[in-house]
Amino acid sequence: MTFRSRFSAFALARNALTGHRNWQAQWRSPEPKAAYDAIVIGGGGHGLATAYYLAKNHGLSNVAVLEKGWLGGGNTGRNTTIIRSNYFFPESTRFYDLALRLYENLAHELNYNIMFSPRGVLTLAFTRHDIEFQRRWVNAIQMTGVDSEWLTPAQIGRCVPAMAIEGGRFPVRGGFLQKRGGIARHDAVAWAYARAADALGVDIIQNCEVTGIASKSGRVTGVETSRGAIRAKKVAIAVAGHSSRLAELAGFRLPLESVTLQAFVSEPIKPVLDLVIMAGHVHVYLSQSDKGELVIGGGTDAYPSFTQRGSYPSVEQTVAAMLTLFPSFSALKMMRQWGGIVDISPDRSAIIDRTPIDNLYINCGWGTGGFKAIPAGGWATAHLMATGEHHALSAPFGLGRFARGILIDEGAAAGVAH
Ligand SMILES: Cc1cc2nc3c(=O)[nH]c(=O)nc-3n(C[C@H](O)[C@H](O)[C@H](O)COP(=O)(O)OP(=O)(O)OC[C@H]3O[C@@H](n4cnc5c(N)ncnc54)[C@H](O)[C@@H]3O)c2cc1C
Repeated sequence: MTFRSRFSAFALARNALTGHRNWQAQWRSPEPKAAYDAIVIGGGGHGLATAYYLAKNHGLSNVAVLEKGWLGGGNTGRNTTIIRSNYFFPESTRFYDLALRLYENLAHELNYNIMFSPRGVLTLAFTRHDIEFQRRWVNAIQMTGVDSEWLTPAQIGRCVPAMAIEGGRFPVRGGFLQKRGGIARHDAVAWAYARAADALGVDIIQNCEVTGIASKSGRVTGVETSRGAIRAKKVAIAVAGHSSRLAELAGFRLPLESVTLQAFVSEPIKPVLDLVIMAGHVHVYLSQSDKGELVIGGGTDAYPSFTQRGSYPSVEQTVAAMLTLFPSFSALKMMRQWGGIVDISPDRSAIIDRTPIDNLYINCGWGTGGFKAIPAGGWATAHLMATGEHHALSAPFGLGRFARGILIDEGAAAGVAH
């Protein structure tokens, strides 16, 4: 892989001496070609990772990523960056753990600092039912060989001194920790994959909206775009909250609901929280960024919508939940708030599959939790596109599960957005 410029201590020092004016653009901005072997629609993490692994794992480099806006401008650049693999069902745990293992070496592999910080993700229990279910959950995770441990309220108090363990409206009764979980810099993940895919010959084309999907005799032949028609032998759709719109262009329907999920950040404060905290029962999750801001999220809006703003009641409910756990945060000012459109499937699990159109593939349904899945989502989608067969880990995530009733019902493990 030949990068336009490699990052290293030496490169940093050399560029510092010239006032950082000589860094090269990290990827090319080519004009679209008339035809490609494969097109990936959507320049978010999943689309970019798919293109990278098509080139790296399968030697396909006549590939384009078409993005209607800017790279990472969708949910990849709007999320709260929690990475973990502690799902309830083995199908999910194994899939997300592939992603986590790829994340662990991603900065090194892609020569880009994605700021992966495996600081630990702590999920809290507040009721006897929470304790029973979460202890079962810990066992289920451990059965797949993935790390997870139960903590008592006293242990949690020592890990998170700022939290009101006993004094809050909902006293904390325990929780479970995945030490390998954590956070990463979201834009950097998109940029790192874009740069590496570009280095392998992939064309990354921004400001190029797909407006139609062309097919002949039931087989995809290309796409219509705001920059003209482009032919392709294979096409993948990886557009998160816009998946049902793209499916409509191709003439089929997906079992998805699109809703807005919000997040917000506080003003920066001194280090106070070095774990990621998830509290499904009261519906909030938060972590502290390297800059000191608290990054906070909660549940989705209660109604389907394609807006990227979000409703006020969700903000109010999320802040109330945070203050239940951290009363001292009531003095904080919030700096920014935003929303993203998430695509939620009936069992809250993702969809990676073929579609009713031959050689047209879909990667969607990540809902509130697909940032953590990006490396594995890209890996498995590339595998399916290149070989025509599912990767063993993505096979359970096909569309057929809804017809056959073999759901991967992660409603509980994904119950609080993350
Ligand atoms: C507020 C919020 C918090 C979240 N927190 C977490 C978290 O903590 N952890 C976690 O794991 N996940 C989280 N998620 C979910 C996660 O962000 C997504 O699942 C993930 O980023 C999806 O990546 P993607 O590449 O599929 O989609 P996106 O990043 O949305 O990329 C899709 C791209 O497709 C483009 N596109 C759409 N239509 C077209 C078209 N017609 N032509 C060309 N391009 C098109 C869009 O512009 C977009 O850039 C959160 C989401 C939100 C909104």
